[in-house]
Amino acid sequence: MTRKYNFSAGPATLPQEVLEQAQAEMLDWHGSGLSVMEMSHRGKDYTSIANQAEADLRELLAVPENYKVIFMQGGGSTQFAAVPLNLLGDNDSADYVNTGVWSDKAIKEANRYCSVNVVANSQDTNFTTIPSFESWSLNPDAAYLHYVANETIGGLEFPWVPQVEGVPVVCDMSSTILSRPIDVSQFGLIYAGAQKNIGPAGLGIVIVRDDLLGKARESCPAMLNYETHANAHSMYNTPATYSWYIAGLVFKWIKKQGGLTTMAELNKRKSDKLYAAIDQSDFYKNTVQKEARSWMNIPFTLANSELDEVFLEQAVERNIVSIKGHRISGGMRASIYNAMPEEGVDALIEMMTDFEKSYG
Ligand SMILES: *Cc1c(COP(=O)(O)O)cnc(C)c1O
Repeated sequence: MTRKYNFSAGPATLPQEVLEQAQAEMLDWHGSGLSVMEMSHRGKDYTSIANQAEADLRELLAVPENYKVIFMQGGGSTQFAAVPLNLLGDNDSADYVNTGVWSDKAIKEANRYCSVNVVANSQDTNFTTIPSFESWSLNPDAAYLHYVANETIGGLEFPWVPQVEGVPVVCDMSSTILSRPIDVSQFGLIYAGAQKNIGPAGLGIVIVRDDLLGKARESCPAMLNYETHANAHSMYNTPATYSWYIAGLVFKWIKKQGGLTTMAELNKRKSDKLYAAIDQSDFYKNTVQKEARSWMNIPFTLANSELDEVFLEQAVERNIVSIKGHRISGGMRASIYNAMPEEGVDALIEMMTDFEKSYG
């Protein structure tokens, strides 16, 4: 068996150990004689799996007591509607930062439910910069402030957390959660789709400060209501049981690696290497402002885009797959989440160097 180096932005590579454990436990979880997929979500076995996953996630992120952790369905995008439906209350206005494609999607969805005030927009630099906080036109009466910590397509990541007196900060962390330690108390709400750094696609995780619960609009569907899910320990209906279990295995794996401090060191080292290789060459290029370059998603272009196809073919020959850039940006994109081993990044850099020698 040859496992490929999968640089996909999502669904992304998972730790091999996790897949092997899932395989070993597939038919018979811990002597239960059942696959996790077949278990009652209310039974003792599954309850222990679910509770352990939540406890490990809380430990990894040091989630304070006054925050609820919710395992939802519908990935990241469902939260674009759930956030306004739950947090607006009687307020009719929310602040949003626009730093790229995912910000834009969140804004478009929020527009259905409230008046969106775009406080800052980096369109003028083609979304390669984070507008300085001093330039933001914040509304002190906004129900919340929403931003995307890491723009997965643009490869643009906030190196700081915005803080506004009296306005809860809501953050889409889909492609950066668990890549480094964070201070959860700086946020009113954090959400993430699972398929980048957590587990299988379809699962969504919400971490919400408990004073923000209980304000959902009457029209908020029960399935999107954070309070409903929080009160039911994410078992209001049948949750995505197997995905939740795999997420739990990933949390254990991260703990075994040394937790988020170790992850951060590794992620910094991997991304530094790749950016250095890009910057040192005249052949490859990444245009994102240096301080705001993503640790997770690294887009780059070749000096001659006619070589893109050859580059992709040669990559595959070295077991490097899913490195093609997003259709809207072209070029290449290497997503190097927690589970991408350093050898994968080394293999990519070696391939890039050899390619430049032959075609540069
Ligand atoms: C992938 C992604 C999403 C959407 O996730 P889905 O699970 O596909 O809905 C939202 N925001 C960001 C930043 C993402 O990277």
